[in-house]
Amino acid sequence: MLSEAALEQLTSNIKLWGNELGFAHIGVCDTDLSASEPKFQEWLDKGYHGEMAYMANHGMMRARPHELHPGCLRVISARMDYLPPKAGFATNLKDPDLAYISRYAGGRDYHKMMRNKLKKLGDRIAAELESLGEELPDYRPFVDSAPILERPLAEKAGIGWTGKHSLILNKGVGSWFFLGELLINLPLPVDAPIEEGCNTCVACIKSCPTNAIVEPYVVDGRRCISYLTIEHQGSIPEELRPLMGNRIYGCDDCQLVCPVNSEAPLTKEIDFHIREPLQLPKLLDLFAWTKAEFLQRMQGSPIRRIGHKLWLRNIAIALGNAPFSEETVAHLEGRKLSEEVDDMVLEHIDWALEQQSLRAESEIDSISRKTNRVIKFVEKGLTRDA
Ligand code: SF4
Repeated sequence: MLSEAALEQLTSNIKLWGNELGFAHIGVCDTDLSASEPKFQEWLDKGYHGEMAYMANHGMMRARPHELHPGCLRVISARMDYLPPKAGFATNLKDPDLAYISRYAGGRDYHKMMRNKLKKLGDRIAAELESLGEELPDYRPFVDSAPILERPLAEKAGIGWTGKHSLILNKGVGSWFFLGELLINLPLPVDAPIEEGCNTCVACIKSCPTNAIVEPYVVDGRRCISYLTIEHQGSIPEELRPLMGNRIYGCDDCQLVCPVNSEAPLTKEIDFHIREPLQLPKLLDLFAWTKAEFLQRMQGSPIRRIGHKLWLRNIAIALGNAPFSEETVAHLEGRKLSEEVDDMVLEHIDWALEQQSLRAESEIDSISRKTNRVIKFVEKGLTRDA
């Protein structure tokens, strides 16, 4: 049995080993999330989880890590930064012919990599206890792999506070990071949560393109572009499509406007740098990928998990929101003939074609209005000349 002093020392070492493995911050908390249960239940009761049935499937086990992994006494919460260099936020968002992809998804999928690192951290702790002649610990790493409320745990472990957009953030660090957990049966000393720092700011609430942040700290997943483009399987509600702009996989708007992110560090992981085909991706180029090309190019990327059909669906919406062009219409028409398109995708392509045609009409209207003005001006001149 480790003394209090030995547990203190072990915790300092765990933080050091975590940093060596590439984690920017390691915090420790106990497993009591009873304070978060009512809010989580209310969120589920309102249906804000949409089609994410897995959120509701495990009852309150998400808020009870000790039920998920019996014997667990502590959660080691780990932060890994993902903000890539050359993020090109404005370039991609402002050009409606380019695709915007959430900045966490431009590189390699983080799940496996983080889980391996957390496993290594557990192994390192076990090796230390073995060298001290102590009983080996029981531990289990999690990265989105099981029902667990990772944000309240991170908040408890002092990784940051919960922002009004419901993500965790911290001063000098921002919110561009992944979270992972190592559940362990050691009574390690816990960290203190930090004070919330949003104060009177409401920038994220105001900036959300679909008004998904229905009140501070509460996101209606069904309106969130990240949910719509990644989790939602079927047809996207028509009233939300024009608001999605060119965001084809996820959305970063609430983080982009957050003043705390002005000091966010860049990732140290080269795996999270944006891959070449996704650096300045043209919507039409991405829309032309066959299923085989999509699977091959998105190998190892988190984007691969949505599959080719949702990929086409999302891009069709962005093309519907793009300025009118004959090339776009030709690509949309061409895709309709492809065997890779099912009824759901077809419906989105038809919607995009309708938007393109409405835009073309309004362009023709504006051109003819301008032409009429010129004609009137010339006629006036001619009358005067006469
Ligand atoms: S934008 Fe403002 S309110 Fe939203 S998380 Fe950042 S600091 Fe908090």
